[in-house]
Amino acid sequence: MRKDVRILLVGEPKVGKTSLIMTLVSEEFPAVVPYRAEEITIPADVTPERVPTHIVDYSEAEQTDEQLYQEISKANVICIVYSVNNKKSIEKVTSHWIPLINERTDKDSRVPLILVGNKSDLVEHSSMETVLPIMNKYTEIETCVECSAKNLKNISELFYYAQKAVLHPTGPLYCPEKKEMRSACVRALTRVFKVSDLDNDGILNDYELTFFQRTCFNTPLAPQALEDVKNVVRKNLTDGVCDNGLTLKGFLFLHTLFIQRGRHETTWAVLRRFGYDDDLELHQDYLFPPLKIPPDCTTELNHNAYLFLQSVFDKHDKDRDCALSPEELMDLFDVFPFVPWGLDVNSTVCTNDQGWITYQGYLSQWTLTTYLDVQRCLEYLGYLGYSIIAEQESQASAIIVTRDKKLDLQKKQTQRNVFRCHVFGITGSGKTGFLQGFLGRNLVRQRTIKEEHKSYYAISTAHVYGQEKYLLLHEIFPDFDFLSETELSCDIVCLIYDVSNPCSFEYCARIFKQYFMDSKTPCMLVAAKSDLPETKQQYRMTPLEFCRKHKMPPPQTYTCNTAAAPSKDIFIKLTTMAVYPHITHADLKSSMFWLRASVGATVCAVLGFAMYRALLKSR
Ligand code: GDP
Ligand code: MG
Repeated sequence: MRKDVRILLVGEPKVGKTSLIMTLVSEEFPAVVPYRAEEITIPADVTPERVPTHIVDYSEAEQTDEQLYQEISKANVICIVYSVNNKKSIEKVTSHWIPLINERTDKDSRVPLILVGNKSDLVEHSSMETVLPIMNKYTEIETCVECSAKNLKNISELFYYAQKAVLHPTGPLYCPEKKEMRSACVRALTRVFKVSDLDNDGILNDYELTFFQRTCFNTPLAPQALEDVKNVVRKNLTDGVCDNGLTLKGFLFLHTLFIQRGRHETTWAVLRRFGYDDDLELHQDYLFPPLKIPPDCTTELNHNAYLFLQSVFDKHDKDRDCALSPEELMDLFDVFPFVPWGLDVNSTVCTNDQGWITYQGYLSQWTLTTYLDVQRCLEYLGYLGYSIIAEQESQASAIIVTRDKKLDLQKKQTQRNVFRCHVFGITGSGKTGFLQGFLGRNLVRQRTIKEEHKSYYAISTAHVYGQEKYLLLHEIFPDFDFLSETELSCDIVCLIYDVSNPCSFEYCARIFKQYFMDSKTPCMLVAAKSDLPETKQQYRMTPLEFCRKHKMPPPQTYTCNTAAAPSKDIFIKLTTMAVYPHITHADLKSSMFWLRASVGATVCAVLGFAMYRALLKSR
């Protein structure tokens, strides 16, 4: 909303402009007034809409035309004042004032006008009949009002209408010529409806309407009011109410009614609550709430955000097969201005037999977006109405910014849930097969993925001592000379060679020695394509000797050329090493490490059992 409002009063001399302003301020009719009142500013807390409001007078006797034009261009709303007992002053509204103002304002951003008939105390009849045709002719006229400075009639109303015309303009919402809501407004309200339709059945039931009312207006809706609203819709539309709830059609009708009855501030309140600005675009402040991410920290979703995303998934998984069909996915993205996920997402996360993103895959993709591009995650959550539905301050409250990784390493423990693994290897060494294998796809299945839908990322979960962690695999393009800082920073490095290609190990050795030998990042060597006959690697050491020398775990064999889904063991190992990097770097034999890790698991299990027994006893 605007930060202040500037109201200008114009009109013929002696119609009562100055008197209106002075009456508003002093609450009594002044016997004598100057030609022109000083500009006054009404502080925010005494105005109905709580914005500072400047009121500016005009006097032909004291001001030049140039000064008038300047004031017109500065004004947010202009009151054209006439005197109800003075025909000529009414005529001048159309013959002089409206053209004069319109010449000075942009056709697309016409300043709203208010017709003010003053001195209503002097006549018996109303001037409305004369004024209504003018109102119909000029759509920039927001409203008209008759008042009397002398009798203090409608004075504060006049300024309230003026304020409202600026703060809650009808222009963007409604087309007076067609007598219907504009398409942008319909679009925005449709999104509001879809977000508020928590079970996605196309109807706002009593629970959803009550929630909607509370989020938009901060007041509960009396049961009777709820019925009244539905009855109004029922009376006017055949399919506005269905199963005792409001349909989209009914919802849109209700807002058209609000606007037509001059209660468009209601519609604005709804739109603003759902993040829209005066142009009916989602506000940047709404989509991108401030969030500070210090270096060496990563971003994850918190429990609340996962619950919200789960509810979004559930409401769109209509057939309850725990996967989103292309139609279900399109329906989910209906509240977005664009489709955010391309088909490459299907090869980044787990899908079902039909290739549809599963519940697990859906959460993984959100985790990926949060980790790699948190701004985009905030934006997407904004489209879904996270802050509204989850009743949070902003999308930023969905994000956990983890502590500095250096601190984690120092304290030898981490609260993080997402770990990043960079996969190195020459072209054809089996990196993509490895990534896809993590998603449960064997070689046969992988061949069905189209080239243009391939992904350099794969993300899914792996259990580490009973805790679910996300492992994000990132395939690094084998360009030895240009490894950027981001390509090198990860939680674990995976070096892949092809057992059937004698030239493939040398690259791994080179990458390790140049970049990771002296780093704190744990490394794992993977002997891919282990289903093929092994050939001797052209290097002065065997891979096993290399691992021993550099205190790495021995090469892990891997194949995705399996009948069923490839084994997940290696990914659990990788995740474990990523979660507990210090263990790897302790001067331990590799076999000892795994022993230790499993001892840790047993300790946990025993402890868990002991606690369970203690609980049983206390019953
Ligand atoms: P301006 O030139 O438009 O600023 O008009 P003024 O405020 O100077 O008022 C012109 C004259 O109309 C003054 O004598 C006022 O006292 C008188 N006047 C202003 N408002 C009213 C009103 O509501 N009723 C009556 N009866 N007289 C008014
Ligand atoms: Mg005056």
